[in-house]
Amino acid sequence: MSAERAPARHVLILGGTTEARRLAEELARETSYRVTTSLAGRVSSPVLPPGETRIGGFGGVAGLAGWIAGHGVTHVVDATHPFAERMSFHASGAEALTGVPLLALRRPGWTPGPGDDWTFADSLADAAAVLPRLGARVFLTTGRMGLHVFAHLTDTWFLVRSVDPPAAPVPPRLEVLLARGPFGLAEERELLARHRIDVLVTKDSGGDATSPKLTAAREAGIPVLVVRRPAVPEHVEQAGSVEAVMDWLRQD
Ligand code: NAP
Repeated sequence: MSAERAPARHVLILGGTTEARRLAEELARETSYRVTTSLAGRVSSPVLPPGETRIGGFGGVAGLAGWIAGHGVTHVVDATHPFAERMSFHASGAEALTGVPLLALRRPGWTPGPGDDWTFADSLADAAAVLPRLGARVFLTTGRMGLHVFAHLTDTWFLVRSVDPPAAPVPPRLEVLLARGPFGLAEERELLARHRIDVLVTKDSGGDATSPKLTAAREAGIPVLVVRRPAVPEHVEQAGSVEAVMDWLRQD
């Protein structure tokens, strides 16, 4: 890319979510932005967004700040998953070091409605402690990371859905379903019925891509164990949607 044709604005998207990909797609339509999406590299064959991509950690706050300064980044959007708390704090730290503005794209969490039977846990470990009281055939949708906290539950049967296979230690009575969202209501209903699920465990991820499981659980009268979100840096400016991020970028 020659210097005179290079867009003046370079947006770094900290990605790994549906919204991050949607944002990259939106920005790809506008020639005034250079866009780089960064992925942690957790998924073996990620769906790559348009624009440039880089994969792997930066090496902490200093590494991220160095990358931002070294690549002429003018705007950073933290579009990581609500449970990727370390990366969100690193993004905030890098803003303090570089002065390059940061916006956090934070999708709203889920809230229970009439007919929902939800129990909240503060962490995966808390969820594992409560789980045996709620059911014995579990649909576990918290991802393959952190499965070790359920490994001691030898009487509980788990259906684990994840993009890549989980690594040991895992619970002994386990079936793995490899799948990548979004998931529709019909398939969620069918899964709950076929596996005789009697409790659903989920992170409070928010968003539409994986929410049909909550509807299916309500319809079937199945309790849901919801892991609350971790704390994220509060002083960071936030947007609730891809459209709001686009507005923030256009203000400059
Ligand atoms: P995390 O605990 O917050 O981050 C751990 C380390 O992974 C970070 O310190 C950073 O390494 C690296 N990292 C995280 N996100 C990165 C990104 N977008 N680009 C480059 N490096 C990144 O994150 P996590 O919970 O393991 O999640 C990893 C990725 O998976 C995130 O991008 C997130 O959006 C996605 N994801 C997470 C979940 C979840 O439930 N946690 C669910 C769906 C998707 P360095 O310190 O070396 O920079």
